[in-house]
Amino acid sequence: MGSRPRRAAGLLGRPAGSGRTAGAHPGVGGPGGPWFAPALASAEPTDPRASLYGRITPVVRRPVAEAAPGRPVLGMADAVVLNDPVAGQGANTAARCAAVYLRAVLERGEDGPFDEDWMRDAFERFWSDHARHATAYTHALLGPPTEHALRAMAAAGRHPEVARRLGAGQEDPSTLADWWYSAEATDAYLAEVSGGGR
Ligand SMILES: Cc1cc2nc3c(=O)[nH]c(=O)nc-3n(C[C@H](O)[C@H](O)[C@H](O)COP(=O)(O)OP(=O)(O)OC[C@H]3O[C@@H](n4cnc5c(N)ncnc54)[C@H](O)[C@@H]3O)c2cc1C
Repeated sequence: MGSRPRRAAGLLGRPAGSGRTAGAHPGVGGPGGPWFAPALASAEPTDPRASLYGRITPVVRRPVAEAAPGRPVLGMADAVVLNDPVAGQGANTAARCAAVYLRAVLERGEDGPFDEDWMRDAFERFWSDHARHATAYTHALLGPPTEHALRAMAAAGRHPEVARRLGAGQEDPSTLADWWYSAEATDAYLAEVSGGGR
């Protein structure tokens, strides 16, 4: 991804003028939509050409830097894993990072040592449990939507369970890992929900 703005073509990137507002989308405003759906019921694009673009180049940095010789520091949240805000993941990811690091501190205990190995291990836990999922989800929303993602969105309009599962993915993208990125897994899930049809 370069520095040129990219239109977010997935869930969030429906261009204005396509006849649907966010509030009118069945996956958002329909049964099983999130708690804030009523607030979006009459939402309109700000102008006919309004749409969402991605602009931030995603970055994953080395988590440990040296503040002074022999004084390693551990980076957290946006400082080490930066994604485009288009998917709305940064704040939750920052909070999860704080929680993972807090747990790592408590597990290590007062006497430490809080050395580089401990820092790298804490970051690895943050990356593997949370940050990689937020990163994958953000990338998915920045690219053109896959056919199976569109099938899932369409199914969300008919099946509240699918809408809820997609909504849960926005809140915690690790829940998408075993289905949303695979056409096979998505279609198997949709077939299960709809009892064979879609
Ligand atoms: C336009 C936009 C929209 C976004 N929308 C969403 C959204 O809808 N949902 C979502 O979850 N996330 C969203 N995000 C992302 C979210 O804001 C960030 O991921 C999150 O704030 C990262 O938290 P952080 O603590 O790492 O960094 P920050 O919140 O940026 O905090 C860093 C702090 O460090 C301070 N600081 C910087 N340098 C120094 C220094 N040298 N000395 C002392 N202090 C310093 C800064 O002033 C700042 O207060 C959005 C971001 C942008 C830019």
